[in-house]
Amino acid sequence: MTGPVPRPGVLAIEPYQGGKSKDTSFIGKLSSNEAALGPSPRALEAYAQAAALVHRYPDGGAQLLREAIARHHAVELDRVVCGFGSDDILQLLARGYAGPGDEVLYSEHGFLIYPIAAHAVGATPVASKDDGYTVSVDNMLNCVGERTRLVYLANPNNPTGTYIGRDELERLHAGLPEHVVLVIDSAYAEFVDDPDYDSGQELASWAPNVVMTRTFSKIYGLAALRVGWAYGAPGIIDVLNRLRGPFNVAAPAQAAAVAALDDREFFDKARAHNTRWRDWLFQRLGGLGLSVVPSAGNFLLIDFGAPERAQAADAYLRDRGWYLRRMESYGFPGHLRLTVGTEAENRGVTDVLAAFMEPARG
Ligand SMILES: *Cc1c(COP(=O)(O)O)cnc(C)c1O
Repeated sequence: MTGPVPRPGVLAIEPYQGGKSKDTSFIGKLSSNEAALGPSPRALEAYAQAAALVHRYPDGGAQLLREAIARHHAVELDRVVCGFGSDDILQLLARGYAGPGDEVLYSEHGFLIYPIAAHAVGATPVASKDDGYTVSVDNMLNCVGERTRLVYLANPNNPTGTYIGRDELERLHAGLPEHVVLVIDSAYAEFVDDPDYDSGQELASWAPNVVMTRTFSKIYGLAALRVGWAYGAPGIIDVLNRLRGPFNVAAPAQAAAVAALDDREFFDKARAHNTRWRDWLFQRLGGLGLSVVPSAGNFLLIDFGAPERAQAADAYLRDRGWYLRRMESYGFPGHLRLTVGTEAENRGVTDVLAAFMEPARG
């Protein structure tokens, strides 16, 4: 008995493995780029209040949430669509624009949801070579062909933490044929301090083939609630509205996201915390003799020099209750990714890493 056979591409999907979380005996879980300070207390309050109305369907148009997004980001309401996490939107874009025979382009060390989204619709994922740890616009453009339908760019990228600046982003867009959709995944935009960074909002405001995706899972600390959004060309937003589930964002999630956006004080605190401790971790890990990729996000990619060394470090950390993210699936078997945590977590995890590095240095 063989049973029903799924559509082409489905069995080519490598199921996405998140940062370890099932084991609750950890001291520090720094494996999934979750918010160090958690969510805004006002978001939690709004979430709790929404509990009284869970027998009602949510507002399928997410009107209040889209209004809050439009207000805070100075974008047009009609060009915003919300999703069940930004993952929902990334997958819908593949469904809307690619299929068997089409190519979906992303960068070598790009976010692993992109090849999954491509396979899920029977399209062929194509990975362009990076330039070291950074996306190479030239290599990406060289991979664009007649069959290319969609280009996914995480900027900053996960797991490298690097980004391409405004000029490079514009050059990438300028080099793409008009029928190719450029998806700028700016999940970590809020963490970036550099003046030459552009979240893609500018391009998404006028170009007919650009869409920017954002999330409440990272700086807003609402990963469990699954809220993301997209802003872009009216034609693309229309496609997303047709394909999305009519009630794709739960009501308590919408309420929490609105409150999170409105709590600017907490947002500023979360941002300042990240900048401070990202710098601190970079220095401290460097001081231990580890090579760390400079990051614009809320995480750091650490190079242990060899796969065995990264595995040993991971085992050493786990034995002591610390979870980092293994990087084999991203093509970095000699690296681990560390999320910026609370002060206690940052100090704790680097103390353990210092002890791990000790014999090697002595
Ligand atoms: C975490 C992350 C997201 C966010 O996904 P959600 O589905 O919104 O939780 C999107 N893109 C990248 C590159 C990420 O690292």
